[in-house]
Amino acid sequence: MSDIECPICKSNAINKSSNGFENKTVSCPRCGDFSMSSTAAAVWDAKNANLRQIANACGWIREHQGISISSNDIDSLLSVATPSVAERAAKVLIYINKLSTDLSYKFSLNINNAIEWLGISYSDNALELDYLFRTFLADAVGYISLSGGIGGTLSQVQITPRGYEFLESLKHHRADSRIGFCAMWFNESILPIWTNAIEPAIKDAGYDPKKINEHQHNNRIDDEIIAMIRRSKFVVADFTGQRGGVYFEAGFALGLGLQVIWTCKNTELKDVHFDNRQYNFVVWEEDKLDDFKDALQNRIEATIGRGNLS
Ligand SMILES: [Zn+2]
Repeated sequence: MSDIECPICKSNAINKSSNGFENKTVSCPRCGDFSMSSTAAAVWDAKNANLRQIANACGWIREHQGISISSNDIDSLLSVATPSVAERAAKVLIYINKLSTDLSYKFSLNINNAIEWLGISYSDNALELDYLFRTFLADAVGYISLSGGIGGTLSQVQITPRGYEFLESLKHHRADSRIGFCAMWFNESILPIWTNAIEPAIKDAGYDPKKINEHQHNNRIDDEIIAMIRRSKFVVADFTGQRGGVYFEAGFALGLGLQVIWTCKNTELKDVHFDNRQYNFVVWEEDKLDDFKDALQNRIEATIGRGNLS
C-alpha cells in the first residue's frame, strides 16, 4: 500500500495494489474503491475532463464500488449524466441515514473539507454541498436539522421525522410479494431459456414466476411492466440480445430497491453495457440449460432467500 494521486479526481488516495503497475486498485476518499489500468488512466487524462465531468465520474464510481475501469470505458465515464438536484439531495440523506447509529445520531461537518461527501452527492465543490445540506435538505424540505454553519462548519446535523418519512417512502416495493419478475428479450429464439430454466428456477426457489409476453401489450408496455415490477419481490434480468427495455427495467427495479439477478448468454457477456458490467452475472450456455436453471435457483435462494410456495 502506498500513497498515490487518484487517477480520476487527483485527490490523495491509497494504492492498494499488491503487485504490478498496469492495473491499480485505488482507495480514494472521494471516489471510494475501484481499479483502473494505467492505459485507462492515460486515456482519462488525455480527455481533459471538466470539473462537472469529474464530479459525475466520482459520483458514479461511488455507486459502483469495486468496478474495474478499462480504456474502453472512458467515454462512458465522461458522459455520466448529472443527477437532478433532488436526487443528489436524496443521496446525501440516504448516506446520513447509513451513518446514523441510532435516532439521536448527530454529527458535524466542515463543508470545506468534506471530500467524501463530494463523491456521494456528485458535487464539485463546498458551495454545492452547502446548498444540498442547508438550502435543500434543511431549509426547503426539512428532511434534516442543523445548526451553526459559522466558518463552513455544519453542526448538529440530524435527520428529522419528516426525513425518516421520506426515507420510508423510498421503499415502495411490497416486502411480502412472492413475484419473481423476469425482464428479457421477446424473441422466439430465447424462449427456451424462460421455459426450461428461468421459470422453473424461480418456481423451485419458492416464488411465482412472471414475465410479460409480447402479445399481451402493445403501446402500454411500460405502464404494465412498471406496475408488475412494483408488485415484485425481485427481478431476473436477462441481457441476451442487449434490449434497451431490459436495461430500463433492471434500472427501474434497482431504483425501487429491489434485488436484481443478472443473467446473460455466455457469448454475449462482453457486449453488456458498461454501467451493468460490474454485477455478478449468472451466465448460460445454449446446450446447458439444466445447469443454468440450477445456478439461477441457487442465486435466488442465496440473495433473496427461499420463498414459501411449494
Ligand atoms: Zn478519486
